[in-house]
Formats: sequence, structure tokens, C-alpha cells
Amino acid sequence: RLSPLAAAACACLLTATTAGADTVTQRANALIARMTLEEKIGQLTQLGAEVPGPNKETPDELIRAGKAGSVLWTIDSDLIARLQRVAVKESRLGIPLLFGYDVIHGYKNVFPVPLGLAASWDPALVERSQAIAAKESSVAGINWTFTPMVDIARDARWGRIVEGAGEDTFLGVAMARAQVRGLQGPALGTPERVLTSVKHFAAYGAADGGRDYDSVFVPEVTLRNVYFPPFQAAIDAGAGTVMSAYMTLNDVPASGNAWLLRNVLRREMGFKGFVISDAFAVQSLENHGFAADNADAAARGLQAGVTMDMASNSYMRQLPALVKAGKLPMRVVDDAVREVLTVKLRMGLFEQPYGAPERKAAVFNDPAHRAATREAAQRSLVLLRNEGRALPLAASLKRIAVIGPLGDSGEDILGSWTVEKTTGVTVLEGIKARWPQAEVTFARGGDMQRAYPLPWDADQGKAAPALMSAAEQQAELAKAVATARQAEAVVMVLGERANMSGEAASVASLALQGNQQALLEAVVATGKPVVLVLLNGRPLDIAWASTHVPAIVEAWFPGSEGGHAVADVLSGAVNPGGKLPVSWPRSTGHVPAYYNHNRTHADETGRNFTSRYSTDAPSSPLYPFGHGLSYTSFTYSGLTLDRTTAKAGAPVKVSVTVRNTGAVAGDEVVQLYTHQRSGSAARPQRELKGFQRVHLAPGAEQTVSFTLGRDELKFWSPVTKAWGVEPARFDVWVGGSSAATAHTEFQLTR
Ligand code: BGC
Repeated sequence: RLSPLAAAACACLLTATTAGADTVTQRANALIARMTLEEKIGQLTQLGAEVPGPNKETPDELIRAGKAGSVLWTIDSDLIARLQRVAVKESRLGIPLLFGYDVIHGYKNVFPVPLGLAASWDPALVERSQAIAAKESSVAGINWTFTPMVDIARDARWGRIVEGAGEDTFLGVAMARAQVRGLQGPALGTPERVLTSVKHFAAYGAADGGRDYDSVFVPEVTLRNVYFPPFQAAIDAGAGTVMSAYMTLNDVPASGNAWLLRNVLRREMGFKGFVISDAFAVQSLENHGFAADNADAAARGLQAGVTMDMASNSYMRQLPALVKAGKLPMRVVDDAVREVLTVKLRMGLFEQPYGAPERKAAVFNDPAHRAATREAAQRSLVLLRNEGRALPLAASLKRIAVIGPLGDSGEDILGSWTVEKTTGVTVLEGIKARWPQAEVTFARGGDMQRAYPLPWDADQGKAAPALMSAAEQQAELAKAVATARQAEAVVMVLGERANMSGEAASVASLALQGNQQALLEAVVATGKPVVLVLLNGRPLDIAWASTHVPAIVEAWFPGSEGGHAVADVLSGAVNPGGKLPVSWPRSTGHVPAYYNHNRTHADETGRNFTSRYSTDAPSSPLYPFGHGLSYTSFTYSGLTLDRTTAKAGAPVKVSVTVRNTGAVAGDEVVQLYTHQRSGSAARPQRELKGFQRVHLAPGAEQTVSFTLGRDELKFWSPVTKAWGVEPARFDVWVGGSSAATAHTEFQLTR
């Protein structure tokens, strides 16, 4: 907060946010001209709040000496304010700091995990949610979030699938854009918003075997058509920073990859902000067997285009000597410093360096924020199965059993990447509140845990949490069965603990862990009506449940109000309308199960050699991408095009009428898929190219229109090495999932 005097003085100056780009550059250059080499490198350094400097200096000492441009990993508002004062008032040039933190899906009020938010297929909701997260962050003094993660993930074994929008590029683009708009606002410097960091550039989600941090081999054609577009969307939405990924991409580490960070990101994509490495990724250039030593790592990281070194202090340690020895041109350093200062100036950080901790309590306790998390959770829930209308559960139920290790866990319902140590409403609590007249009993039925501790816990000597003994598990299971027998209906809450998905949380098997499968089968065997609620950050192997449990609700990790949102849906107070942002594999062996693969092969008689598992299992997913049921039903009719022939690049308009044919109001996500039948290269058998979530009263109908123009139909051809729309015949399908059957077609000509 500026003093009134300083504010008055400031008012006569042109602020960076209102000034043109030239003024910003002039101000940045004027600062650079006054900076020592150490101060310049300071702007390229992000200190870990608890990582000591190379000579054991404290953050205060380093900041006072101008040796830091940013600090991460603290949410202590007093500490943040103190360090910012040191930077602004006690360092020679008074350049304010950026305070970065992983505010991924909410700060005080926790929203569903990003995969859950994507399942809402509601970009406006996602934008509103992230705007709330930004407001809570900014008052706390966090002015930079390491969000959104826009990595496409086709392999559910990869734990970080939970942090993104799933497997689809078109949906991923919409979610990337919405998140940047929500977090950052329409422009850098919007009050109560924060700087975003789009991550992890690029293709981090394609780790070999789904093992986090492992090598990635993705050909250029797939990088450009599948993995890059969400980054482009985030950049176009104004994202101020991009985070470079940890792993090697086609043998060159992403954080030392000049093709990626300079040619693609800056030249082709037009990125104008700065690049932050992932944590210790500059130092890791050496671990990858790429850089010869730490000095080589620092030089190559900066030259490749990593502007700021997160936490490893490699730039601080190495760059001054390299420049002085003439091994690294000062111009490279100056260009990087200019990128950082430009972002700080454009954010208005010099004018407004502090948060507003005095408003924290009011903002954190704003009932509208809490209500928004409940709405977001309601809209992210996906009804996977509902045989014989097992759901909604009757309001008249008198005895309900909640069973499962996650049924009453306030921590796990929040998912990974929570900011404060806090808890959410559990499913047990939600059901008790929804059925106040009923006797609601609970049994956890057993336990499951990670087999290995998180790396940062292991560093501190912590072991993986101990699992119950087999005998204890058996006793818990028996108690659960007895509890189920006393109830009229059973709600089972199974899935993953929060720390079983997220970073460093890859799995070799998608099976329900611990004794959960045995527990499920034992409870179903009681003959009681069972509803399965899943809390998880990835699709799990629920093949058995999909034929034995009549109702299955995918709740992801739904956040602060999760238990209420689940009860809202189970009771029918809210009609679920979420849809899967991933194809649901039948088993681990079905990974990758993504729907938008290429067509395969048939002989001259039409005999079909379609790619398939031939001897043990169907190849189709258990539930297709885009799938999700409702308590009502919808029909599609009148699929029409405004023309059936158009010049390549000219828009074709698609319209369809969707009708609610059931007895209750509900939401349908109308989805449009296309296929290009021929071209310079094979194209996916289906690709999402439009969607719209509509709300319809019983009996009501709505005509929904989509435009298929250049943006939707272009692709990067590995033959022409360029983006273009090709003359070809196109199929169009519209419906409620990627298995939609309503079909039409059109021709694009030269
Ligand atoms: C993760 C990033 C995160 C960073 C800072 C890394 O380990 O890969 O996603 O933003 O830590 O916490």
C-alpha cells in the first residue's frame, strides 16, 4: 500500500499499466542502464523462501543486495510484506519482488481440481472460479500463481493428469483461456488478479510409462497439433509467464531447449512475457546428462531462453563469472532482465507492490466465494452409470450407511495442491445435512496409502504413512459389512487419497488401491442398494463396478464444499451435467485410450483390421470421452449445415436442436466432432470442434449452432510443415459424447 504522499507523487508519473509499450521498454532500459551485473542476475533469480543462498545467506540479505527478483514457496503474509519492504525500501534500486505460489484450484476456498473443473465443460464457470482464487491470492500478497497447467494427458498413470483439462486439445484450449482470463483478468495489472504461469512447456504429460519426470518422445506433428495449442491459447489470452518443463523432450531437456523456448514459444507463438524454469530444472540440465556442470547448465539454460531460474540458484552462482570471463554476452543477460522488468512494469507492481493482508479475513470469508466452490463442484460431477434409476436417492430414507476410507476425510476431498492446511465438507457430513431426519452411519472399511513417500517428504526423512495390517483391514471390512446390513441404502466413497494423484504420484496400475475392491464386492454382496462415489484425480479401473454397482458418480476431488455437492446430486436437488474430459480405460492395459486416434486399416472387401485388443477384451473405452448421464433424457434432431460445399477456410455453420424429453430440468453438453476424410496427412477419426452446455426445462428445446471455420479445421501438416485448411470431405457428428451418432457431412473445395 502506498502512503498518501507517495500515491500523490506517483499520480503525476505515468504508470506502466496505462502507458504504452514504448514507455514500459524505456523504463526497463533506464533501470537496466543503472544495474550492476549482480543486480541484473538478481532479477533472473527466484529464491526458494526456505532454500538458503549459495553462501548460506538469508533471503533478507540476498534481497537487500538486489540478488533476487522473486520468492516462492511462502504464503506467510507477514513474511511476504516484510521481504517486499526490503526489496522496495532497502535495496539500491527498489525493484519489487514477485511472490510465486502454486494456487492451482483455489486458495482459502478450494474449488474442484482442474480435471474436475474441466468436467464441467463450462469455461465461464472456470473463469469465475479462478478469478476468486486470484483475489484471495492477491490480498495475501501472492502476486504470481504457477497456474494453469495446460499439459494434455493421455495416460492416466501419470499422476498430474489431475492438474490439467484431460486428454483433449480443443477442451484444453478452452480451459487454458478461461483460467488465464480468470487469474489475470483482461490485462496484466487488473486489480485483485495475479500474474499466471502457463506450464509445463511442453509435452510434460507424455512421460514414458506415465512415470512423472520421465523422458518424453513426441514427434513434431503431435507437438504442434495436440500439445502446443493450449499454450498458444493461454499466450493469446495474455499469460505473462510460461514455465519450462523438467523432462527431456526428444532427448533435449525442455529447460535447455532453444528450439522450444526461442523458435516456437517466442518467435512462432508470439510470447512476450518471460520464462520461469520449473523448480531446480536449470540445475537438472546437468542431471539429464546434457550440461557438463552447473556453470554449463546456467549458461545453456539462459541461452536457450529460460529467463528466471526457479530455486536452484544456478544463475546466481554461475552467471556473473561467465559474463566477466566473456563466455556469455551481456546482451543475453540484458534481454532476459528486460523481459522480467517488462512484466513487472506491465503488472503495475512498482506502483502497487503489496498485497492487502488487512482485507484477508473479509475476502477469505466472503460467503460468495464459498458458494462458488459448491456450484463449481456441483457442475463438475459426472454421473457415469445409473441403472434402473438407482439415483436420485429418496428423500424419505431413514437409514443411510456411508462406507469407505474417503467417506469422512476432510483433507482428501480437497485433492492435491492445497495452499493452507485446511479441510472440506466430507461426503458423510454432506449426507447428514441433506437427510437431517435419517440415521447416517459410517464405516471406513479399510485403508489405502501411497507405497512410497513424496520425494520432498522423503528428503525430510519421512516414511510413507503406515498401512493397516491385513488383520485390521479385515476387521474394518467386517464392520463395514455389518454397517451396510443395517441400512436402507449405502453410499460407498472410494478412490484415491489426495496425495495419490498429483506431482510424483504416478501409478503402475489403475486398480482401486488397498482393500477397496474387496470392500466394494463385500458390501455389494449384502444385496443393499449401493451407490459408488469416486474421489480421485484420474480414471481408475472400475470395470467390476461398472457391471455390479447400479449407480456411479465421479466426483473427482470436489473441494471445500465437496460433500455438500455430492449430497446435492445424490438427492436430486441438483441434476448432474458434467461430462468426462478423458476416455475411461477398461483396465490399465487399455492406456492410452484417447478417442482421437487415427483410423486404421481395412482390406478390399471391407474386412476390418481395425486396431483392437483381439483376444481378451473389447477395445472401446469403458466410458467414452464426453460421456455423462443426467436424471433427465435428451434427444437430438434437425442436424443441418448452412451449406454442404464451401471453399477451404470459409465457415460452415452447423445447427442442431436438443430437447429435454424427461421429467426434470437438466443440463446437456452438446458436443460437435469432425473428421477430415483425406488430405496431405491422416487426421484423427474424430476430433472435438465445438461444445456448449445448455440448461433445459422439461419438454423444452434449444437450437445450438457452431461455426466450423479456419480455426476449427486447420491442422499442422507434417508434409507441408505448415498450418492450413485442406480441401476435403468432412464428417460431422453432434451429440452428448464422443460416441455421438447424429451425422452429416460437407465438402471443402480449393
Ligand atoms: C512443479 C511445478 C510447480 C513448482 C513450484 C514443481 O515441482 O513441477 O508444477 O509449479 O514445483 O512449486
